[in-house]
Amino acid sequence: MSNNTPFSALGLDQTLLQALAEASYQKPTTIQVKAIPMALTGRDLMASAQTGTGKTASFTLPVLQRLSQMRASQAIRALVLVPTRELAIQVLESFQTYGAHTSLKTTAVYGGVDVEKQLQILQAGADVLIATPGRLLDMLNRRHINLDGLRVLVLDEADRMLDLGFRDDIARIMSSLPSKRQNLLFSATFNKEIKQLAHDFMRHPVKVEVANPNSAANTVNQSFYPVDQADKPEILSYLIHGGRWPKALVFVRTKKAANKVADLLVEDGINAQAIHSDKNQYQRIRILEDFKDNYFDVLVATDVAARGLDIEQLPLVINYDLPKVPHDYVHRIGRTGRAGQKGRAISLVNPEEKKWLVTIGQMIKKSLIIEPLPYFEDGETRVADIQAPPQRRKKKTRPARKKRQDSI
Ligand code: ADP
Ligand code: MG
Repeated sequence: MSNNTPFSALGLDQTLLQALAEASYQKPTTIQVKAIPMALTGRDLMASAQTGTGKTASFTLPVLQRLSQMRASQAIRALVLVPTRELAIQVLESFQTYGAHTSLKTTAVYGGVDVEKQLQILQAGADVLIATPGRLLDMLNRRHINLDGLRVLVLDEADRMLDLGFRDDIARIMSSLPSKRQNLLFSATFNKEIKQLAHDFMRHPVKVEVANPNSAANTVNQSFYPVDQADKPEILSYLIHGGRWPKALVFVRTKKAANKVADLLVEDGINAQAIHSDKNQYQRIRILEDFKDNYFDVLVATDVAARGLDIEQLPLVINYDLPKVPHDYVHRIGRTGRAGQKGRAISLVNPEEKKWLVTIGQMIKKSLIIEPLPYFEDGETRVADIQAPPQRRKKKTRPARKKRQDSI
């Protein structure tokens, strides 16, 4: 689903949609689009997205909906574990806001306030309980609270909970919950510990992730090489051949350039295809699938065609043209180094494009330096002390271009 998806397309009830409209939410965030329909199915889900991207509503809305659809009960049916008291209060407010037109009741328990008062409120009945681990364990140990009717467990800000040392408390809480339940885990990051935690208590969770738009800037190794515009085709195939890259995504600015660059690579013996908005949807899907299945090695794409491309294990992105808009640069290099893997981005920078490095650098908070072109020995990169001229192909007169097979 694209990010123009309205809330009404996520499968949410009218009562919830009304509350969202009253909260002046215009459209769901990306993580909401990905997580809400999945959580509504009742499956276990682990979701990660940067802080401030609306993860709370991503679990609050489906929890409210699923509980509303269940038979009414006296029991606490959803438990949300949060790391801090401040967060408990915030999440409580979210349940109250989004659940304003449901008949569900939400209560929060957390340390630092009188237990007796919290118990009194609990005794009045609650469908959803938000709790910090310490206070909840305390209440469970004193048998002040019964979670036998629990149907949904949410771990919010799982990364912070582990940072704060709640690992064992969480395990103890889990052991007093019915095993047949839906588990939802939300975190700003997925690290090894979170994955272990998920492995320990979830059943085949669906994983949804929204990459931090700037995170690629930190995980992707970026190089900028000075190249005259006229030399770009030669240098491009020199880099792809020399680096022995098994696979690369090459970005160009225009559709015409996409076709031209793909054709030139093919002439140089590189298995390449172009993708851009002049190709119809069917062709685009087929090209992408073929690229993913390694039927060819280099995909030459325009920015528009590349939106949302998610190709696992893409080692290299090459900017044949440097984008003028810094956001496009971040978007392009974000096609590699996904899900914590290493990635590499190479940009060919002509003298006019040099000035755009400044704004790009400001956006990703790095100073970007133009380096000499590398030369290669056995596929290994060695950066020359002096700029090593690449082995240029002799300029040959190109044969009249064959009609591309897939151009209709
Ligand atoms: P996270 O848990 O991902 O850090 P929050 O759930 O706390 O983020 O949401 C951050 C802010 O964004 C909150 O103020 C929330 O009310 C607001 N918010 C969440 N979803 C939307 C939306 N779809 N439209 C507008 N504001 C939203
Ligand atoms: Mg949050």
